[in-house]
Amino acid sequence: AAQRVGADRYQRHTDALDTSARNSAQMAAALRRGFDAGEFRLVYQPIVELPHGIIRGVEALVRWHPDGGSPVSPAEFIPVAEQTGLIIDLGAWILDTACADAAAWQARWGADAPRVSINVSARQLLDPDLPGLVAAALSRHGLEPRGITCEITETAVFAGGPALDTVRALREIGVGIALDDFGTGHSSLTLLRTCPVTTLKVDKSFIDELNGSPQQEAIAASLRGIADTLGLRAVAEGVETQDQADRLHALGYRYAQGFYFARPTPAAEIDLALALAA
Ligand code: C2E
Ligand code: MG
Ligand code: MG
Ligand code: MG
Repeated sequence: AAQRVGADRYQRHTDALDTSARNSAQMAAALRRGFDAGEFRLVYQPIVELPHGIIRGVEALVRWHPDGGSPVSPAEFIPVAEQTGLIIDLGAWILDTACADAAAWQARWGADAPRVSINVSARQLLDPDLPGLVAAALSRHGLEPRGITCEITETAVFAGGPALDTVRALREIGVGIALDDFGTGHSSLTLLRTCPVTTLKVDKSFIDELNGSPQQEAIAASLRGIADTLGLRAVAEGVETQDQADRLHALGYRYAQGFYFARPTPAAEIDLALALAA
């Protein structure tokens, strides 16, 4: 009997592995089909200046609508796209689409046009063609490099090596480099010595805890202080309440992003918001 239970368990375990492999293989295939069928869209979330909430930038966030239905979270499909390598084609599409929208905003709003932030995944940073791709997209759409910021994560670059070389090459082109989810990695401060960063995006976890605790305020203030001292801009991520916005402003934060100000929305709605403010 023990033998059978063991055999059963092994069998079930194998089933479970097969199922998850099949699901991710299925998702991989669906992603590829969806990409070829044009099922991906970009939405943009405003990055605002405190205290008045003027839109200074937008972050491009990708959405996948399988069969035109409700979207699947990028947190779910970006890792699969990274594993299969689809992120290279998808990333090129995101880059081109975001640059096209940035150029339209540039043409319509001139000096008031929002800077456009584009998330670049770890796998893309290992692609030696990325800097050339970015330079080509900028010139194809007639964009100044400083109008674009690439958002990277600490984990993608902390080991140095080719990913860090790519970031340096991107910075040499003149685009901004933002460290996303800043403060949550293992080497946040060390990275600032080696990585040519222009913006720190202070992770939502630090903002969530801003509720009057002197310790949390001290941490948020220090992160902003590091940015100031190094001549970087600090953006507070995931601001959900007016109280958080007020506290951030009091702590000297100039830029913020979060549902309190605006949800991610299609490009046309960013234009509406800019038109209302003009
Ligand atoms: P991220 O780059 O840190 O993007 C911020 C995420 O936080 C977005 O989720 C955004 O909708 C969400 N967010 C913004 N404000 C708030 C808030 O006040 N409260 C809460 N609860 N959430 C807020 P989203 O769009 O689901 O994206 C999740 C992650 O997926 C992104 O984190 C990024 O790592 C990745 N991602 C999204 N779009 C792209 C893309 O185009 N390319 C790549 N490589 N990764 C992407
Ligand atoms: Mg980001
Ligand atoms: Mg972020
Ligand atoms: Mg984040």
